[in-house]
Amino acid sequence: MAETGARPKGSWGRRCGGIPRVLKRVSKLVKLEQEPTSILIVIANGSTKPSGLACCDPDHELLMRDIIVIGAGHNGLVCAAYLARAGLDVLVLERREVLGGACATEELIPGFKFSSCAFLCYAFHPKIVADLEMKRHGFHVYELEPLEFRPFPDGRHLVLYRDEARNVAEFARHSLRDADSYPRWNRYWERVADIVNPYRLRTPPTVAELFARVRGTEEEAILEKVLTTGFADLLDQWFESDVVKAALVHSGDVGDPRGVGTAWPSVNLAGGAMDVVADVGNVVGIVRGGMGAIASALAGSAEGYGATIRTSVEVSRVMVEHGQAVGVELADGSIERARAVVSNADPKRTFLRLVGRDALPADFLADVERLSTRVAYLKFHAAMRELPDFSRWLGRDVDPRTIARVWINPSVAYYERAWRDAVNGYPSVDPVMSVQIPSLYDDSICPPGRHVLSIFAMYAPVHPVKGGWDELRASTGEALIDSLTAYAPNFRDAILDWALFTPLDIERRVGLTDGNIHHLDMIPRQVFAARPLPGWSDYRTPITGLWLCGSGTHPGGDVTGMPGHNAAHALLAAWPRHAGTQASV
Ligand SMILES: Cc1cc2nc3c(=O)[nH]c(=O)nc-3n(C[C@H](O)[C@H](O)[C@H](O)COP(=O)(O)OP(=O)(O)OC[C@H]3O[C@@H](n4cnc5c(N)ncnc54)[C@H](O)[C@@H]3O)c2cc1C
Repeated sequence: MAETGARPKGSWGRRCGGIPRVLKRVSKLVKLEQEPTSILIVIANGSTKPSGLACCDPDHELLMRDIIVIGAGHNGLVCAAYLARAGLDVLVLERREVLGGACATEELIPGFKFSSCAFLCYAFHPKIVADLEMKRHGFHVYELEPLEFRPFPDGRHLVLYRDEARNVAEFARHSLRDADSYPRWNRYWERVADIVNPYRLRTPPTVAELFARVRGTEEEAILEKVLTTGFADLLDQWFESDVVKAALVHSGDVGDPRGVGTAWPSVNLAGGAMDVVADVGNVVGIVRGGMGAIASALAGSAEGYGATIRTSVEVSRVMVEHGQAVGVELADGSIERARAVVSNADPKRTFLRLVGRDALPADFLADVERLSTRVAYLKFHAAMRELPDFSRWLGRDVDPRTIARVWINPSVAYYERAWRDAVNGYPSVDPVMSVQIPSLYDDSICPPGRHVLSIFAMYAPVHPVKGGWDELRASTGEALIDSLTAYAPNFRDAILDWALFTPLDIERRVGLTDGNIHHLDMIPRQVFAARPLPGWSDYRTPITGLWLCGSGTHPGGDVTGMPGHNAAHALLAAWPRHAGTQASV
């Protein structure tokens, strides 16, 4: 793997590569029994136990793992599976009872199973599905078709499909010019994708390096454009219809759709031509059993390769000795030792809470504290007696699956207002909503005749200006119900029960700092070679033997598996093959 991310000269993190010094010292004191897939260290004099630490389970002290992965989010599981497949002895420790982190299925209302955070599988890399034999472990995606239905308050609507020709026909109902532009728009994004996609499964280049690679070609102007133009401004250049622009606009974590950087696909995967830019060969759809089935398939794969996964086990700190990560201390005070620790927790949580300030250089800590996690979203879940009624737009004879994914966003100006409300410290009065009804495809998640409905709503402040989220939860949920009832008149009455996840709830449940769904905002200064920080995009950290593998690393958030894949491969490339463990990619 090429290592092209720029790193400040003379930085502290490059000492990994051989057997860590601490372990070399320890190995003089111990008898090493080498097994094909693990190294068992028998303590000779107890000197590996850090001073002042309780060890509740003396048996654990005998076992030195190759790798401890903190967190069984989908990236932690991908990373663990690749490392175990390469022959390493891997232990995954997850604080929750459920696997998957923000990619989980949970029975939030008795009898109704929800994709509690992520809902849409649109960017999971097909190489990982194949490498880790996920289909053999139950991974199945129902292809979403149509992709989405968009009602507009004045009675107009759009139904968008995977098939470009059908979308051209839909757009032609609103603007012939836009229908003509749309295929060229897609080809444009394919060219953008060709510039950035080669770097998704590897350590990323800096933007300067990216420019150097396209210098003198037509792609140079394209790259310049997407880096310097707001997405809504780009839409104004290509399209005339307000309906078409409202359907295509998306600004992700930048928020303001006219903000510079919203067209940069590493920032705004959902913008552009989503499935084109996300990658080639992805299936866009609904996972059977909910998104947690991705985590189960990955866990099955990891365990099949020999990894051990323990749930309801919280890591309270990463143990650092002489600048080297040597294991973790658990919330119950016990200790697990390993030759390397990989954190799936977000960078702020990892460095500010788990590693601790004393072990890190002050300037690095200051950079971590400045990392942006200010963009937040709401997730609403409802058990439904019946489907919401969109017959005003669709009539009564339509395929019910047309409403499996409904977007409420009447205009670019509406989108801008939704963002501004959150910037001002309020949940959006008129939120942009992605309404999701997976039970239209998957009959395993609720009783027959009932439905599972969720809403991903944009945007919300991390810290509301008036009151806390515990006070605002009920009224915010009611407001969301009102917003959707304005489109589907039976919605409120069709709800059997509901729950709202505010950013605070997402933080409490999943452990995401500020409830940040991507670990760190996907904004221009925090993507590619600058993710999580400039100089640290190669999954290493200033602590030798401590690696990151979550969405806070390249290529970023969403359910892609790519950070976990890349971290595993970076670690394997650095793994000392002469140390008695057979590691290969
Ligand atoms: C509401 C919401 C909606 C979303 N919608 C979509 C969508 O539709 N499609 C999509 O592709 N993406 C979506 N996303 C984004 C996507 O879900 C995340 O970016 C992605 O799942 C993060 O995966 P991860 O493995 O990197 O980290 P996480 O899922 O955050 O996993 C980290 C894991 O580490 C564990 N952990 C943390 N600290 C400790 C500790 N001290 N000890 C032990 N374990 C610990 C956590 O419990 C967690 O399980 C959504 C996210 C949210 C929150």
